[in-house]
Amino acid sequence: MLSTIVNLKSQIENPFAFSQSSLQDYADCPRRFQLRYIEQLAWPAVETEPAIENEHHQQEGLLFHRLVQQHLIGLPAEKLARLANTPDLSRWWGNWQDFRSLADFGSLYPELTLSAPLGQQRLLAKYDLVAVRSDKKALIFDWKTYHKRPGDEWMAARLQTRVYRALLIQAGAHLNKQTPFQPEQIEMIYWYADFPAEPARFPYTAAQYKRDWDALTGLVAEIAVRREFPLTANEEKCAYCPYRSYCNRGIQAGDMDDIETELSGVEIDFEQIQEIEL
Ligand code: SF4
Repeated sequence: MLSTIVNLKSQIENPFAFSQSSLQDYADCPRRFQLRYIEQLAWPAVETEPAIENEHHQQEGLLFHRLVQQHLIGLPAEKLARLANTPDLSRWWGNWQDFRSLADFGSLYPELTLSAPLGQQRLLAKYDLVAVRSDKKALIFDWKTYHKRPGDEWMAARLQTRVYRALLIQAGAHLNKQTPFQPEQIEMIYWYADFPAEPARFPYTAAQYKRDWDALTGLVAEIAVRREFPLTANEEKCAYCPYRSYCNRGIQAGDMDDIETELSGVEIDFEQIQEIEL
């Protein structure tokens, strides 16, 4: 077990650029945050079984995101469609085409990166798409390629939902004539490529914004002074975690088919993944 062989680093760099992924890891398991973001350990364990299918699914998810991004910046759909050459990609691409033709997106800001100070640290997010409509509503879209659609309550509580909306207010004034968006102007929409008619929509209020920003500020302040990062007491989190072998939390990975909402350890982290060429 790694923790008995070497001394783990126990402090974040200052300042530290937090993302929804790193904050979600911390919320799920402080030790996972330590291993991934302080120690920066490569993922040592196969996360889920069957491993090859999971890796394949992640690659397809990444390629789908890239196809949508290229489409949004103006590449012809016919040219991109040729790259959607697996059953999953072809289905997702067809669903996306239908969705795109129906939606009123307004001004498009695909693959937008925003960052802002958060206490003594920084908060950073990479959005799949921010669309600012003529009625001044700012829609945050995030494409999800889950095989199962998570419940809306579970998605509402995700740090992504809280970070993305709050950060758009903090750092998105340049999309709104140099005026920060009001919370009521903002809505986050998870669009599920396999459930195109069932997006999850999360509007925003001033009270939610205050709650979120206060909570995020408190969370990063807590992490900054923390010197111990214990293993989660909820061992269900470990079934899909790549660091199981470091924590003596089992060798056998969870099965993708059993994953309903426990996606945090296995979700594609687009903020960490390098661009792929089309
Ligand atoms: S295996 Fe479990 S305890 Fe270890 S980092 Fe992963 S979630 Fe945390």
